Amino acid sequence: MADKKANNRKNNRNNDEDYNPKFRKMRKKVCALCSDKNLVLDYKNADQLKKFINDKGKILPRRATGACAKHQRDITTAVKRARHIAVLPYTQE
Ligand SMILES: [Zn+2]
Repeated sequence: MADKKANNRKNNRNNDEDYNPKFRKMRKKVCALCSDKNLVLDYKNADQLKKFINDKGKILPRRATGACAKHQRDITTAVKRARHIAVLPYTQE
């Protein structure tokens, strides 16, 4: 019984639900700002920037936003500018 399961696991390396879920393949996110050329990040647009902060007001990491390095930098700058002009909060609760 145990042997059969171990064998099955060995044969189906990556694309099997029986495989260790710790190393589950994650779908690669596409940068929202790269895919949509018309989308321009605006530090005065709170609704747009709210997608890039969590409920505590922290800026989400790249693995959560899916943004590329260049656009993550733009997001960070925009959020920080928005905080400075009190469009976004520095912290919540
Ligand atoms: Zn990008």
